[in-house]
Amino acid sequence: AVSNENIIEVSDLNKWFGDFHALNSVNLTVQKGERIVVCGPSGSGKSTLIRCLNHLEPHQRGQITIDGVSLNADVKNIEAIRREVGMVFQQFNLFPHLSVLENCLLAPIWVRKTPRREAIEMAMKYLERVQIPEQADKYPGQLSGGQQQRVAIARALCMEPKIMLFDEPTSALDPEMIKEVLDVMVELAGSGMTMICVTHEMGFAKTVADRVIFMDGGQIVEAAPPNQFFTNPEQPRTREFLEQIL
Ligand code: ADP
Ligand code: MG
Repeated sequence: AVSNENIIEVSDLNKWFGDFHALNSVNLTVQKGERIVVCGPSGSGKSTLIRCLNHLEPHQRGQITIDGVSLNADVKNIEAIRREVGMVFQQFNLFPHLSVLENCLLAPIWVRKTPRREAIEMAMKYLERVQIPEQADKYPGQLSGGQQQRVAIARALCMEPKIMLFDEPTSALDPEMIKEVLDVMVELAGSGMTMICVTHEMGFAKTVADRVIFMDGGQIVEAAPPNQFFTNPEQPRTREFLEQIL
């Protein structure tokens, strides 16, 4: 499903928190339909990279272009880009006082101005896709962690994004719930969605990723297709990391 059309272009991306250089000249090109897994030790800049792509964090130097739109020059692009880029976090961030369905309707109705009836139809379609349509009228607190994360995925899909960013979507889940979330992500990956997933689920990386990226110290140290990445990494730092986690 990978085309040779670039949907994300990142060049010389730099981000500092005070004196701390969190992203050190990151370059990354992602093709439409490409599935990328990002791994690396804690503090290596994975979340910061993902957040910069959605402009949840402004960067300080470099270029980010999403589907032909520059994230740098003027702020009015930001909303347009957020509509195209769905985001799923480790914490599900659902609104606890809203039902599952209402959580899914919020952005389509208020941001995309989709008529309510149409938004409901779409929300139910995506809740079916993540296999919890029967939970539509429940509140987040009544659901398991795995179900809540699937709602968060459905909610992001309701904006009909072109790109989905995942930041450790299974890290807060009990082991028995990890698979149900990964299954949804695998299905999404098979649908041609462009995806960047920060995760340490290396089984997922092996079966789904077109490229695996290893970050360390705010840099992309290595990027390779999974068969090469896992069997024959070029960089010593990648090898060390893989020895620790595999
Ligand atoms: P990762 O997701 O790879 O664990 P992060 O991107 O979250 O790493 O963070 C990279 C580094 O930047 C960490 O050392 C972290 O402490 C620092 N950092 C992240 N966010 C902030 C912030 N808002 N203010 C100050 N430092 C931050
Ligand atoms: Mg992180």
